[in-house]
Amino acid sequence: MKSPDLFGAIDRLPALGAPFGRRRFEVFNPSTGELLAELPDMGVEETRAAIDKAYAAQAEWAGLTARERSEMLWQWHQLIVTHTDDLAAILTAEMGKPLAEAKSEVSHAAAYLQWYAEEANRIYGETISAPSTDRRMLVIKQPIGVVGTITPWNFPASMVARKISPALAAGCAIVLKPAEQTPLVAGAMFALAAEAGFPDGVVNLVYASEGAAVGRELCHNPKVRKISFTGSTEVGRLLMRQCSDQIKKVSLELGGNAPFIVFDDADIDAAVDGAVQAKFRNAGQTCVSANRLYVQSGVHDEFVDKFVERVRQLQVGDGFDPGVAIGPLIDSHALSKIESHIADAVGKGGAIRCGGGRIGRDGTFFQPTVLTDISSAMTVAQEETFGPLAPVIRFEDADQVVREANDTIYGLAAYFYASNLKRVWRVAEALEYGMVGINTGRMSSEAAPFGGVKQSGIGREGSRHGLEDYLEMKYLCMGGI
Ligand code: NAP
Repeated sequence: MKSPDLFGAIDRLPALGAPFGRRRFEVFNPSTGELLAELPDMGVEETRAAIDKAYAAQAEWAGLTARERSEMLWQWHQLIVTHTDDLAAILTAEMGKPLAEAKSEVSHAAAYLQWYAEEANRIYGETISAPSTDRRMLVIKQPIGVVGTITPWNFPASMVARKISPALAAGCAIVLKPAEQTPLVAGAMFALAAEAGFPDGVVNLVYASEGAAVGRELCHNPKVRKISFTGSTEVGRLLMRQCSDQIKKVSLELGGNAPFIVFDDADIDAAVDGAVQAKFRNAGQTCVSANRLYVQSGVHDEFVDKFVERVRQLQVGDGFDPGVAIGPLIDSHALSKIESHIADAVGKGGAIRCGGGRIGRDGTFFQPTVLTDISSAMTVAQEETFGPLAPVIRFEDADQVVREANDTIYGLAAYFYASNLKRVWRVAEALEYGMVGINTGRMSSEAAPFGGVKQSGIGREGSRHGLEDYLEMKYLCMGGI
């Protein structure tokens, strides 16, 4: 795919957010290495200009009725639905994921816009019974103010929508910096936002090859009242530190190390289906990817045999080719990480049951891989691999496996398969995670609160709870009545 049509997004950039200088950066197709676009490389000055525009637009945006904001989100939703095929093609070109997955991601992005178009109308306060008869006490909710948002490359359309649609619904103007590798679909979505009629300055885009400078400005500029970030725990920590000077609010959606547990009483075929989904969607490059598969002894061999058979059938290739289930990894660092995890595991006694290596000498394609004889001491059980690598750990004791599953700094998503109801409740409640998939390998939905505990993040995106993260509570007390 050559030079994706961004619906004129690049030409419209000054109108969308900020002026830009002459520096540019390149965006490539990870499947082919083809140069897709050259974008203006913005820095501190342009970020500050975008913040100024958002700040100037904030009061008027917050002053609209909820219905007026809702209608603009609806318009944007409908434009995204209309342009699903084009947006998906841009997404596959810059990120590599199979076209069918890209279409599903664009639909998911549109679903967030629809959800928050509806939710915009459901911002409620509260009245409180006052302790004396001469007073009235109530709580109103108000938008927090300008929000700085930063998104990752792995879901470049849905992360943009999931983050900014609740902010806009709440009445906040936003500045967004998408990931360096995948800025094009965000650009196209912002062009559609302009078409949807958002007033000048309400949505602002900053393209940059250097996230750090933009991030510092967003954190240190007092006109920005909140930072909402999705990405690695390492960068999340840094942003939180940078926000501490001004006690700026943060929402963080960070890394994970999801356990996927199969108990003896599980439906094994369903567990295999779920594991393939939870592990290999987006080539394993998801924050909720099953990073460690624990399988109880009684069903271990049956599960592994069936799982390996399914994994061998996954076709790897260019996301535009029909039948492809797994695209390239995002870059060569991702390849090196997965190789080092395999080498560490094999060096400590792990066995490769399928896959295990790169495909071809060029590009970033990697075979979907299953490892067995894995122990908790191996790197693969400790760190997020973020690639198509499934390490299987055999276990005996149900209580012990929950302890091991919780023995991590992360707490984003966990999955387990079991049928005994007592076990289902106990395990679901004992897992220290923000989200638990029970007998399912897929749980993301605009209707549900997405987010983690421990070092996987702060706050939730999606559902009615997602809106609260962009609202401040104000207590009003009227006396002398
Ligand atoms: P990343 O390196 O943290 O980058 C994420 C975003 O932060 C990018 O836009 C990046 O910009 C920017 N960035 C990098 N360094 C920065 C800095 N010093 N200050 C401000 N911004 C900075 O993460 P990634 O590799 O793109 O994404 C993968 C990670 O995200 C994984 O750990 C995954 O689990 C996590 N993730 C979490 C969720 C969730 O909902 N919890 C969802 C998706 C992904 P540049 O591109 O310019 O570097």
